[in-house]
Amino acid sequence: MRMNDTGILYLVGTPIGNLKDITLRALEILSEVDMIAAEDTRHSKRLLEHYEIKKPLISYHQHNAKGRAELLVQKMLSGENIAVISDAGMPGISDPGYWVVKEAIENKVTVCPIPGPSAAISALVVSGLSTDRFIFEGFLPRKKEELKRRLESLSHETRTIVIYEAPHRIKQTLRVCEDYFGLERHGVVARELTKKFEEIRRGTLAELSQYFSERQIKGEFCLLIEGAEKIEVEKAEWWNVITEREHVDLLISRGLSTNDAIKEAAKTRNKPKREIYNDYHQET
Ligand code: SAM
Repeated sequence: MRMNDTGILYLVGTPIGNLKDITLRALEILSEVDMIAAEDTRHSKRLLEHYEIKKPLISYHQHNAKGRAELLVQKMLSGENIAVISDAGMPGISDPGYWVVKEAIENKVTVCPIPGPSAAISALVVSGLSTDRFIFEGFLPRKKEELKRRLESLSHETRTIVIYEAPHRIKQTLRVCEDYFGLERHGVVARELTKKFEEIRRGTLAELSQYFSERQIKGEFCLLIEGAEKIEVEKAEWWNVITEREHVDLLISRGLSTNDAIKEAAKTRNKPKREIYNDYHQET
């Protein structure tokens, strides 16, 4: 590489468990770049040592992503090639990869994918749920109200839904999913993919919830939920596909006062007016 050339940003896929799940090209690029930006440098050192790759490492994680992205792009503008890797899988998928890509594009730095595994796609293809159309939800919101709104808006989704979940939340998430998608909706929990204790559990949400409630939960999880039947969606009331807040806002946009809109939405949804009122005003 000539000194004044701008460097390249490589987004390099790394294993989601099994260290052998890395491509020849990923190893080549990691061996050739000037620097590797890693979510957790200690964690990535193990992978790099395994493949005898010795390169300067710099941390690039959720808490320093924006500032670090600027620094990394400055380095690429002065000619360095940089690989970004995350703790597992494809950088940018539910981890901070996005910021450096955005910054690189704004500064006309070439961004190059080095594809590797991703937990979402690995879980989807073994789930047995429809792969024709799917949506990736990543981690669900932590805040109760936001979670409620998200699940409400997903409850009539016809595509397969892919969710990432932390071990300490999976039991609770399965329980709330039962409320919004129904006990009979099918789901799949893909645990510890590509690792020693890999487990792919399929069943109705009620069965999955029951199974995991009786066990100690360890490892990494993807939760997949089958899409709603089209017929089910067609039968559903129109307002089921919008949140309570959107319902009230829609009525306001049609000329109703806020109070009348809340009253009307409560009547249509067969819910106490106070509940809609509280929810609506809590978040404004
Ligand atoms: N960038 C990664 C990717 O491409 O899949 C995802 C990073 S995200 C911070 C980590 C989440 O991915 C975990 O909480 C879990 O939901 C999922 N995950 C990662 N490895 C997994 C595995 N081996 N089995 C099941 N889920 C996994």
